[in-house]
Amino acid sequence: MINLLDFDRKSLEDFFLGIGEKPFRATQLLKWMHQAGVDDFDRMSNFSKALRGYLKAHCTITVPEIVVAQQAADGTRKWLLQMGCGNRVETVFIPEDNRGTLCVSSQVGCSLACSFCSTARQGFNRNLSTAEIIGQLRVAQRELGEQTKVTNVVMMGMGEPLLNFNNVVAAMQLMLDDFAYGLSKRRVTVSTSGIVPAMYRLTEVCDVSLAVSLHAANDELRDVLVPINKKYPLRELLAACRDNVADAPRRKITFEYVMLDGVNDSGADARVLVRLLRDVPSKINLIPFNPFPGTEYRCSPMPVIERFRTVLHNAGMVTTIRRTRGEDIDAACGQLVGKVHDKSRRHLRLQKQGGT
Ligand code: SAH
Repeated sequence: MINLLDFDRKSLEDFFLGIGEKPFRATQLLKWMHQAGVDDFDRMSNFSKALRGYLKAHCTITVPEIVVAQQAADGTRKWLLQMGCGNRVETVFIPEDNRGTLCVSSQVGCSLACSFCSTARQGFNRNLSTAEIIGQLRVAQRELGEQTKVTNVVMMGMGEPLLNFNNVVAAMQLMLDDFAYGLSKRRVTVSTSGIVPAMYRLTEVCDVSLAVSLHAANDELRDVLVPINKKYPLRELLAACRDNVADAPRRKITFEYVMLDGVNDSGADARVLVRLLRDVPSKINLIPFNPFPGTEYRCSPMPVIERFRTVLHNAGMVTTIRRTRGEDIDAACGQLVGKVHDKSRRHLRLQKQGGT
């Protein structure tokens, strides 16, 4: 069976051409699936009986099932979704006064090993399909009902989105498509730990906002916190960032910087950061570290975070401190764990090294 949620507009047009239908059927189907939330082919009244019959025989429209739904005191909602074979991922909705942001996962687990992230501890199983990625948005919107709209999507859940390039890009095309979710390119953000070649490709094929998990302003420390830095060091990373904004004069890259007590939070660190980002149009988002069982890191105290921000601010850099949301249901950054059948055996390696 073909899951029609796996297709963006282009591949849906190809699909319809392949079965002898006109490409405009793609638009009609996108509207049924993503705007009307209809998954029963019999209700697709502008399709011929023959086409409905074909679709019923060969296709499905299947979204992930909810295993657990939780709501935090601050209104943040989290869904644990079944992804087959015992694998589960988490999706988080963060309501704010004038917007509602959905934090979407891209992989079951993560193959990277950022030392301060709990998803990393779980190891890696597989990439999510396009249907499983866009399905998170579809399920969330269904659960939120008519009154509450998802206005922003951040690819900041479990996984490294740019290591699941094709599926993530197809899902984001659907988020941007006027006949699917119609979100503006400023409201769809992909966050990466810095997979440099994929960043260049992304700039070419998909016009969304880019966030980069920087976390350190020198290679020596970044090698430890974000080990992919050994492969793609800061110089290469920042060149890819400059390339991303080169043709978009008003666009800025968001740099995420997790505040780790005594690790990367000194005044000197802030000044090196200012110098590093001097020639990249940027916004800096300081993320208070969210602890999880077994970690040795601690969050920098608030006055330290504020001092750090002041240094950046005085150097003319747009800097915000990310408000921690959904903490009481473990929905904050770096706390998403789902359930991963680890194929990479990371948890065994970590055990041997004396980790959790
Ligand atoms: N793999 C992608 C997408 C994850 S985004 C990336 O690295 O960008 C989630 C953000 O939360 C990343 O910036 C990540 O570094 C950060 N993060 C991870 N663990 C965290 C923790 N325990 N506390 C605060 N932020 C964390």
